Amino acid sequence: PVLRVAILGLGSYGERVAEAMKDCKRAKLVGVISGTPSKVKTWQAKYGIPEKNCYNYENYDQIKNNPDIDAVYVITPNGLHKEQSIRVAKAGKHVICEKPMAVNAKEAQEMVDACKAAKVKLLIGYRMHFEPKTLEIIRQRKAGEFGKVLFFQGLSGFIIGDPTQWRLNKKLAGGGAMMDIGVYSINGSRYMIGEDPIWVTAQETKNNPQKFKEGVDETIQFQLGFPGGAVASCLSTYSMNNLDRFFLNGDKGFAEMAPSTGYGPIKGRTNKGELEYPHVTHQTVQMDEMSDIILQGKQPIVPVDGEEGLKDMKIVDGIFLAVQTGKKVDLKL
Ligand code: NAD
Repeated sequence: PVLRVAILGLGSYGERVAEAMKDCKRAKLVGVISGTPSKVKTWQAKYGIPEKNCYNYENYDQIKNNPDIDAVYVITPNGLHKEQSIRVAKAGKHVICEKPMAVNAKEAQEMVDACKAAKVKLLIGYRMHFEPKTLEIIRQRKAGEFGKVLFFQGLSGFIIGDPTQWRLNKKLAGGGAMMDIGVYSINGSRYMIGEDPIWVTAQETKNNPQKFKEGVDETIQFQLGFPGGAVASCLSTYSMNNLDRFFLNGDKGFAEMAPSTGYGPIKGRTNKGELEYPHVTHQTVQMDEMSDIILQGKQPIVPVDGEEGLKDMKIVDGIFLAVQTGKKVDLKL
């Protein structure tokens, strides 16, 4: 079976997903939701989208009467995810929502509840959860190849450009680097270690308060403690490039990924050597797998559901609280 998808938000990542979906076997782009009529026309021509599957931000509740669309993929600024995802759920369609799923845990919980009430699935765009080298390292860790895991380091960052973009607007982004790129280290620490953290400490550095206004984080270092005794040490920043690296260490071995979360190719090695897997386009694999999850109830190796996204949002809340108070914050995921 083929999952018939409409994309809501025709920006740069939406376009990347649309291009990747051309190679999907079990998912197909069939519709669009956009506030810009000229973009709708371009996408219709480019992807062969029929007029009856085109909606705008005023009328997309009507998608409930469209039997030719199964799911809507929300790919807009973070601050819009909650309201849009809930509207999609109320229209009876499955929701795929980009990361971060919302701007805090309260919003994320509302999304989980709304999708449950509407009896639709909610998946978050965690493309790394389907990436072959990542999955191989997770397999090896589960098989005990690294022994008792004691340490994870996650480095996530890049230098952000245009100061007027939505990513530097507190209302639309929900924060700064943490919401955009720091979440990769948060999420990565969990799938690499294989546990959920129980505490967090965090420290913020802001060198450019003109560019990074109140509530928009520039650089945050954070530490997570895990129930099995492992610790994670992570960096999230919008002020340095060449930060895309995961390092996992146990008492018998290690794994390193660099790049660890970019669009690829991902590079991975362990104490036994390089991982040799062919590069796959992340979003192609993601959408085929999400089709199986939604239409056939397949269980992914690493979860991508709303509860998984909610856990990351609880950690983000904890990091911001730890920065504010300077104190260690207990986490209850
Ligand atoms: P973008 O700015 O390129 O696109 C955003 C789209 O939302 C645009 O088409 C814009 O017109 C539309 N939009 C609707 N209402 C808007 C408003 N009020 N203000 C601004 N834009 C509005 O951004 P993007 O890079 O495509 O990011 C979109 C989402 O995708 C974000 O949540 C981001 O975190 C996520 N993303 C995920 C990945 C990934 O690898 N999983 C990569 C990039 C972006």
